[in-house]
Amino acid sequence: MSRELQVRKELAAAFRWAARLNLHEAVANHFSMAISDDGQLFVINRAGTHFSQANASGLVTVDTAMKGDSLQYGVDPTAWVLHSYLHRNVAHAKCVLHTHMPYTTALACLKDFEFLMLDQNASAFYGRIAYDRHYAGMALDPSEGERIASLLVDGKDVLFMGNHGVMVVGESVAQAFDSLYYLEKAAQLQVLALSTGRPLQLVDDETAALVAKQTREYPGVAVLHFEALMHILDNECPDYAK
Ligand SMILES: [Zn+2]
Repeated sequence: MSRELQVRKELAAAFRWAARLNLHEAVANHFSMAISDDGQLFVINRAGTHFSQANASGLVTVDTAMKGDSLQYGVDPTAWVLHSYLHRNVAHAKCVLHTHMPYTTALACLKDFEFLMLDQNASAFYGRIAYDRHYAGMALDPSEGERIASLLVDGKDVLFMGNHGVMVVGESVAQAFDSLYYLEKAAQLQVLALSTGRPLQLVDDETAALVAKQTREYPGVAVLHFEALMHILDNECPDYAK
C-alpha cells in the first residue's frame, strides 16, 4: 500500500473514532497528516464531510504552497490557515489534529489555567502543553495561522487554544490520536475533580516528568491502541478504508 493510501486510511479511522467518542463538532474541526518527507504535502478532510462518514478516498491532498481560495480544492478556510502553517513551520507536526472537544476546551477557557498533574494520564502531558491566551477570532487570516504555529516551540505537541479548542500534533496519526484521546480523558477527570470543590492531590513535578518519560518510552502503546481501533472499524464499517 502506498504511503498516501495508508495515511488516508489511518486519517479516515481517526475521523470515525473522533465521531464515536464525541470529540467532533458538526462538520467543523479538522485532522491532517503529511505524506512527504518535508511535511509540505498533506492529506486533510474535505469541507462539509461529517467525521462519521469520512473515508480514505474522500479526503483531500494539498500542498502548503497552494494559493487562492482553499474551498476551490475542497478545504475549509480556517482548516487551511491553521494546518498549512503548522505543516509549513512546525517540523514535528507531521500529524495535526484540531478539535473543540468539550472537556479539554472547557479547561482551555479557564483564566490562567494550566493543565493539572492530577493523575497518570495527565502526567503523560508534563512539559508538552503550550497555551494560547490571545484568542483573535476565527483563523481566516494567514497571520493567525502563523501566530498559532509559532506557539508550538520547544517540542511542545499540544496547544490549549483559549476560548476556542485544542491542537494536538504528532509524528504519526496513531501517536497524535492516542494523545488526543488521553488528553480528553485526563481533562474530563480534571473537570470532575474540580467540580467537587475539594482540595486536589496533585502529582509532584518530578514524578509527573517521570511518567511523561515512561509514557514516551512505553513500547508501542499508541500503535497498539490505534491498530485495535482500526480492527473494530474493519469489522463494523470497512467502508472507511475505501
Ligand atoms: Zn476550531
